Amino acid sequence: MESLELKERIEGQAYDSYGQSFYELHEKEQFVTVGNAVMEYLVPRWIESKEKFSRHKQAYYFSAEFLMGRALSNNLTNLEIEADVKKTLEEMGVDYNMLEDAEDDAGLGNGGLGRLAACLLDSGATLDYPLSGYGILYQYGIFKQNFVNGFQVEEGDPWLEYENPWLVRNSNDTVIVEFSEEDKVEAVPYDMPVVGYGGRTINTLRLWSAEAIDKFDFKAFDEGQYIESVRAQNEAETISRILYPNDSTDEGKKLRLKQQYFFTSASLQDLIKKYNAAGHKDFEDFSKLHSIQLNDTHPALAIPELIRLLEHEGVDFEKAFDITQKTMAYTNHTLLAEALEVWDKDLLVSVLPNLYPYIEEINDRLIKELKEWKVDESRWHKFLIIQNNSIHMAFMSIYATRAVNGVAAIHTELLKTEVIKGWNEIFPNRIVNKTNGITQRRWLLQSNPQLSEMITEMLGTKDWITDLSLLNNLEEKYAEDAVLERFINIKNEKKQELADYIQFHEEIDIDPESIFDIQIKRLHEYKRQLMMAFYIADLYNRIKANPEKDWTKRTFIFGAKAAPGYYIAKAIIKFINELASQVDTDPDTNGIIKVVFVENYGVSYAEKLFPAADVSEQISTAGKEASGTGNMKFMLNGAVTVGTMDGANVEIVEEAGKENNYIFGMEVEEVETKRADYDPKVPMKETEGLEAVVESLVDGTYHDNGTGMFQDLYNGLVDKDEYFVLEDFASYREAQDKIAHDYKDKNAFYKKGFVNMANAGKFSSDRTVEEYAKDIWHISKLK
Ligand SMILES: *Cc1c(COP(=O)(O)O)cnc(C)c1O
Repeated sequence: MESLELKERIEGQAYDSYGQSFYELHEKEQFVTVGNAVMEYLVPRWIESKEKFSRHKQAYYFSAEFLMGRALSNNLTNLEIEADVKKTLEEMGVDYNMLEDAEDDAGLGNGGLGRLAACLLDSGATLDYPLSGYGILYQYGIFKQNFVNGFQVEEGDPWLEYENPWLVRNSNDTVIVEFSEEDKVEAVPYDMPVVGYGGRTINTLRLWSAEAIDKFDFKAFDEGQYIESVRAQNEAETISRILYPNDSTDEGKKLRLKQQYFFTSASLQDLIKKYNAAGHKDFEDFSKLHSIQLNDTHPALAIPELIRLLEHEGVDFEKAFDITQKTMAYTNHTLLAEALEVWDKDLLVSVLPNLYPYIEEINDRLIKELKEWKVDESRWHKFLIIQNNSIHMAFMSIYATRAVNGVAAIHTELLKTEVIKGWNEIFPNRIVNKTNGITQRRWLLQSNPQLSEMITEMLGTKDWITDLSLLNNLEEKYAEDAVLERFINIKNEKKQELADYIQFHEEIDIDPESIFDIQIKRLHEYKRQLMMAFYIADLYNRIKANPEKDWTKRTFIFGAKAAPGYYIAKAIIKFINELASQVDTDPDTNGIIKVVFVENYGVSYAEKLFPAADVSEQISTAGKEASGTGNMKFMLNGAVTVGTMDGANVEIVEEAGKENNYIFGMEVEEVETKRADYDPKVPMKETEGLEAVVESLVDGTYHDNGTGMFQDLYNGLVDKDEYFVLEDFASYREAQDKIAHDYKDKNAFYKKGFVNMANAGKFSSDRTVEEYAKDIWHISKLK
């Protein structure tokens, strides 16, 4: 964009939106104004993109979560106008960083699953694929996390309180979602542009907002009617009011079910409306023009709903089932049995009385086939959608879709051989692998411009921005002294930037000379944040016993939200915060180790953390993490992984070499064998330093303010230790000690980081999207 033109646009927008000079606006308003100017620039291209794809097969990503983060910098980066805009703003006397910080994160997701959806959309648009997202416009995103006395306290996230420049309300496409005869709402779409790198393709994320059908009529003012319409509006809006934090059991199940039906029904109605409007005479071509990807089972009600809608269009059940199956594919995201979604049948019948019969019909069809396939009735519990008064969403999603995919090679293998083995025997080609990826535009180009520039210079091209496999050409470059030196300098610069950011946000000083060892992800027992905390507590004890030794300086950084109803996860947060203050206030240790638990970890914080990491913590119990994507962001930014052979870690070390990472702990088969006769007290007593640390939970070393949380944490470990924290501790401790030792030779240590970066090409979400497009969606690029 010509800078003069941009300046005029911005100044004009300020008057249009606020009737004021841009320079008098406060920072939020300035952000909205610049956002509006960018929208003005991109809308014509957005319309062109819609045009070019309109007669072709398109893919639709149905997801209850889209963890988008901020859009301003991303849009400027992808439109390749970032430098121009920054220069213009500078000339106008505006601080870009301040403007960027004024944008609220679009936190419409909990963690990895929602962030994957966002990365796939970015790649889809960048590769010129027709890939749109369909989801919910939650009024409140993932909660804001505060620490009060070391305890997590949640606060609402009203991210739409200020005007949002990226959302366009399209009332013309409003549809009605009918839960039952008496219970209906309007679904109003808000569209967000998804800008592909290079600006050729701009796709759409369509988010539905719930509103009452009968809005208040001001002309017919009547007090009774007024109160009733406010009540109805409030009730309707409840449906899209909040994002449910996962893993929590006490949430309004009924509302969550309504949300799932709300957005899948609205999205399908939208597709059918457009299909009819395009003049198709029957539904023969529906599956030839649409591919729908179900991101986990949250959108799985789309299966009976599409059948129901097709029947309303005059298609019979068998045909409708066939069209549905050809249209849909399902991504499985978990191996945790407790995370497989099951709905109480009575609840579903009461909330969705018109939909339930279709689920029953699908189940009946399955029973018929089970008989034909001669599956013994004793094994039907592994298949039936309806059993024991519950509805099994995963079984429905496997049965009624064309493809089921796992999200990392080991995960898919475990699905096929254990979790849904029976299904794999019946449909041997249905279960496939699509290893997750991340977009290098946000997670390198935008968040680490220094390393990006270095890569561009080394490769002599910036083509890696859309072809990350080019990084492979860098593998041998570390041998050049100047290369490694520059790489280390950049890492130090990013560590200093993070230190400044943490000083500003947490008021904690950290030392960029120390190892930055980072674990950032949702708080869950299987991810084993507690194991890292135990290592730190043990290290603290060792330093206390021998303060004069030549200890390596280390900073341990955590970032994690716990689901509000997940008691043990909250106990772990409290424990880590207690540990942090112990380490902090002890003069013997405070120049050597430091523990920081950053508040309110989210996408924007993540963008500061990944580039500054020396060590990436990926320490889940083997067999529990489906893939992980945080591990890929660290790798791309040149950190080494300390991790188990779980999820995508397996593929990370396959690419970068075990010798360049720190792999420890039991593998999947060992975990299974161990489970048979596991007594956690054995490793607790046998592992050096461990018993003292475990006992410190209850011997008065750490205080839980009388809540009894630490006693509960202790009991869970000593009685059961479901996730083998104590069993794996010895080998984790060894790996961690080796890191401290290796860091003393910085060149050797950072060489490993460099090799990781150079081998991260596989983990671009561009590769992931290409695989989905080719093997599952069957869509083509249109430039
Ligand atoms: C990448 C990302 C995640 C996923 O992290 P995992 O370590 O794979 O669980 C979660 N939250 C945010 C904000 C992310 O950017």
